[in-house]
Amino acid sequence: MKKEFLFILLICFAVQRLLTAQITDPKATEVWEPEPRVVTPGIGTAPPSDAIILFNGKNTSEWTHEDGSPIKWEVADGSMTVVKGTGGIFTKKAFGDVQLHVEWHSPAEVKGEGQGRGNSGIFLQNRYEVQVLDNYNNRTYSNGQAGSIYKQSIPLVNACRPPGEWQTYDILFTAPRFNADGIRIAPGYVTVLQNGVVVQNHTEIKGTTEYIGLPKNEAHGKAPLQLQDHGDKVSYRNIWIREL
Ligand code: MG
Repeated sequence: MKKEFLFILLICFAVQRLLTAQITDPKATEVWEPEPRVVTPGIGTAPPSDAIILFNGKNTSEWTHEDGSPIKWEVADGSMTVVKGTGGIFTKKAFGDVQLHVEWHSPAEVKGEGQGRGNSGIFLQNRYEVQVLDNYNNRTYSNGQAGSIYKQSIPLVNACRPPGEWQTYDILFTAPRFNADGIRIAPGYVTVLQNGVVVQNHTEIKGTTEYIGLPKNEAHGKAPLQLQDHGDKVSYRNIWIREL
């Protein structure tokens, strides 16, 4: 019995030596296939070569209102601005996992307070809101301020610029996964940089971002992006997206 044990130990030792010997060669750990395709980066916040341009300052053809009609938001001076009561706008295309760049500003003329100042929102897959709000010297509940995942996740910091100034959101989104029975088998995740500052770092999405009540997790596939009409004149420009 003791002999057998020693023999096995010897074999293990030999195998370990063999494996160790293999990885002393640097080439053994080089991976050459597949080769990443080439993407030409944009200059500054300009879209990279493989991005889908959702809004270039003029053309709104990628967007509709919920009923499918052309958008009634005001397009002027290279941006589009919420027109109160016209409703949110939706991309015609549906998306899953994405990298998204959006620029926005709240009205330069400060009106209202709390949730009533420069409120809009970016709804990933038409369900998960990254809050857009003027929180420059404007307090509201922390899990509802700019950069929050609405009523789910407080932003790490308040990186707001003053009202009227353009701000950027760079968003990385991994969509939740559902199985064939409609059960969520993996949550969604979101990372948000506001003006280059991380405000959400791989945050788990608990479900739909509800104004009242708990998050819901009904199964869904790819879905449009929505920009919210919350009644405030929030403007948007330079919106582009990359499917991941
Ligand atoms: Mg909102």
